[in-house]
Order: sequence, then C-alpha cells, then structure tokens
Amino acid sequence: MEVTCMTCKKEYIIDFKDKQYNKIKSGKSKLYVCKTCNEGVQRESIKTTGISPNDVDEYGKYLK
Ligand SMILES: [Zn+2]
Repeated sequence: MEVTCMTCKKEYIIDFKDKQYNKIKSGKSKLYVCKTCNEGVQRESIKTTGISPNDVDEYGKYLK
C-alpha cells in the first residue's frame, strides 16, 4: 500500500507489518505518519504537553 506521510510528505510503501497499515486499510484513518516523524511528534508532544507517547496511545483508544 502506498501512503504519504502527512508530516514530511514523503511517500512510503507499507504492508501489514506496519502498525498503521490495518488502520488505514480499514478506512479508520487516512493519515500516515512515518517512523521518523512519529518519533519527532512524540518527542514534541512530550515537550509541549508533558504527555508521554504511552498516554497518548491510551487516549487514542477512547476516540475509536
Ligand atoms: Zn514523515
């Protein structure tokens, strides 16, 4: 599956090994963030909100 990272706009080919593949394939999300940006975003969000990536994942569960 071809996806475009929403942050750096680079194109990536992902398969079922990617955590975001199922989400995107099932139509729950069209947004892909590559690993590099993902790490950057998580680091950024810790810095700005004080929320750790684990907490964000927990929060994400309730949104579904
Ligand atoms: Zn990216």
